[in-house]
Amino acid sequence: MDADVVVIGGGIAGLTAGALVAQAGRKVLVLERRPVVGGRALVVHQGGFTLNYGYHFVLGADASPHARVFRRLGLRLEARPTWGAGYARVRGGRLKRFPTSPAATWQFFGARNAWAYAASGLRFLREPATPLLAQPLDAWLDRQRVPADVALWLLDISRAIGFLHQPGAFSAGHFVDFMRLSFRQQRRPSLILPWDRMFADLERYIQTRGGQVRCRVRVDAVVVEGGRAVGVRAGGESIPARAVIVAIPPQQATALVPGGVRWDGGRPASELEPTTGLVLDLGVEGTWDRPWIAVDDADKGIVIARHSHVDPRLAPPGHTLLQAIRFLPPEELTGARLEAHKAEMLATIDAIYPGATRRIVLQRCLVPPMLTAAAHTAAQPWQVLPPVQSPEIPNLLFCGDGYRAPGELSNPAVESAEEAARAASLCT
Ligand SMILES: Cc1cc2nc3c(=O)[nH]c(=O)nc-3n(C[C@H](O)[C@H](O)[C@H](O)COP(=O)(O)OP(=O)(O)OC[C@H]3O[C@@H](n4cnc5c(N)ncnc54)[C@H](O)[C@@H]3O)c2cc1C
Repeated sequence: MDADVVVIGGGIAGLTAGALVAQAGRKVLVLERRPVVGGRALVVHQGGFTLNYGYHFVLGADASPHARVFRRLGLRLEARPTWGAGYARVRGGRLKRFPTSPAATWQFFGARNAWAYAASGLRFLREPATPLLAQPLDAWLDRQRVPADVALWLLDISRAIGFLHQPGAFSAGHFVDFMRLSFRQQRRPSLILPWDRMFADLERYIQTRGGQVRCRVRVDAVVVEGGRAVGVRAGGESIPARAVIVAIPPQQATALVPGGVRWDGGRPASELEPTTGLVLDLGVEGTWDRPWIAVDDADKGIVIARHSHVDPRLAPPGHTLLQAIRFLPPEELTGARLEAHKAEMLATIDAIYPGATRRIVLQRCLVPPMLTAAAHTAAQPWQVLPPVQSPEIPNLLFCGDGYRAPGELSNPAVESAEEAARAASLCT
């Protein structure tokens, strides 16, 4: 085995980087330790249901990096739109739809708070984000004297967008960035993609350009000689390459790279805190006549999405595919604590979709080691994430959701993959 460029990891970042390197005319080899590609966005077909590891909407729709890459590769992206209007929130035991028009905002907040909400929105659009990156959102909202109800709403949003169990710790700068992005995207819905097809298309693209994607190959180390990466070692075999792209989370990458991966002026990436949580998938018999796609039960910190409402192909006819997510710190994700959370999530699903838990035909409880590789809290503002290109080793590149910001979701994974592929294609 040899290649111009070796990519470690077959998640969305690794496959995107691999396809773009192949497009640049380089021979690429993508190595994935698991039997299948997909990483944290893996799709599983089970009992007639199509389960994704997460809800996996793509923010920005056709302006998203995913769509941009597919256009560039000449591949077709099949997608379904979802709108903010399809979402609801429970607070104080009351369920209300997300406000998506001025009239709905007025109704949602009441006259006085609607003005305060509009005023804080204007402030977000004007405020420079960089000085706010290391400030916690709750303290910042407090300083801005945002009324309590409006602040609570903004914290609820930030919990969902930041995948955080403590939304107050979210970086205020990141929040401002996100609000700007969503304001620009307002007329564009988010997208739900068939992720398995997206992975299959990228894999096929790599192969038709003379590259390879090999599963069940765990890379043990990046080999560095004379200040350059000269390949990788996997299962006792050395694979030479002119450039190496590490497309795995920084916490895992640090063990593979001589000297480790560092951030914040020298701290080891193993200290970088990811977002974590519990995911419960339910395939249930029957359908529910509800207008929303997802409900954020903010009282309990549980989000319930009805996947098959967006794409009916995800569940067999007459069935519904639900997913509940609760963002939790790692210590809550084991033993009796985990079981208690699971029970509460099932009860919450039942409250919103009455009778659902008595009609379960498929149940899956997932505790992924990380939801996203870097939590964008005030303690981890984006400038201090590990660099996409190693400053000491010019032909060693990194990509994935932990290397680019704003950090949550797969958008930065794809963007950093574009950057890494560009740099790797220039390595001689
Ligand atoms: C429950 C859940 C819900 C989510 N919801 C959304 C959402 O709605 N929208 C969104 O955009 N994002 C969402 N995300 C985040 C999204 O899944 C990630 O940002 C994205 O998948 C990260 O891709 P990646 O390629 O950077 O990393 P990964 O997907 O982690 O890929 C890394 C790959 O490298 C492999 N690997 C690791 N070590 C080695 C090694 N030594 N040798 C070879 N291979 C190795 C791994 O097996 C893995 O396949 C969600 C995540 C979860 C878990």
